Amino acid sequence: MPVRIQKGNESKALIGRVEAISGVDLGICLQCKKCTSGCPVAGFAQSLPSEVIRQLHLGIGDEVLRSDIIWVCASCETCSARCPMGIDLAAVMDALRALAIEKGAPLRKGNVPLFNRAFLATVRLFGRTYDLGMIGAYKLGTLSFMKDTEKFPAMLKKGKIALIPPRGSGSSMVRRIFDRIKRNRGTGS
Ligand code: SF4
Ligand code: SF4
Repeated sequence: MPVRIQKGNESKALIGRVEAISGVDLGICLQCKKCTSGCPVAGFAQSLPSEVIRQLHLGIGDEVLRSDIIWVCASCETCSARCPMGIDLAAVMDALRALAIEKGAPLRKGNVPLFNRAFLATVRLFGRTYDLGMIGAYKLGTLSFMKDTEKFPAMLKKGKIALIPPRGSGSSMVRRIFDRIKRNRGTGS
């Protein structure tokens, strides 16, 4: 993917924030690409995992926050396990996602952040995933009510999608975990 390189304070600040959030020293990356060759989703994104680190090295700045690999990444941690330098690239991806949300970096295409928000909102509310609630929130956000619904009746019929939200004693605990994370973020801890 062609990139615009902007050496300057902005790009240095971005590397600093990524390193602080992920706890990773990006400078030790060898660009050996072992992470990328094991990544199960690399073929579905324009930017590759190792390229993201290289782009940060080169000072691409906030442009890297618009890379689709950040949102295609499945957090499987294969890259982290394969890295000969012990770089936790999955944590770098997490950090980049958090910064992309913080800075409101627009995606070139797709609605993965909206899907993530809908997923997390149902987990917070019910203590676990609730597919129907998640689909409803996503459809409301995209206003694409009829798109990709062909398989919906068959899934309902086969019981793959529950109509009633899950209930469980753990839901209040999960909500407390979410609230605590939110508080900690607010205090910067
Ligand atoms: S495997 Fe590790 S050292 Fe090699 S390119 Fe990926 S992050 Fe860099
Ligand atoms: S954590 Fe993300 S970047 Fe790393 S191998 Fe898995 S999908 Fe690829």
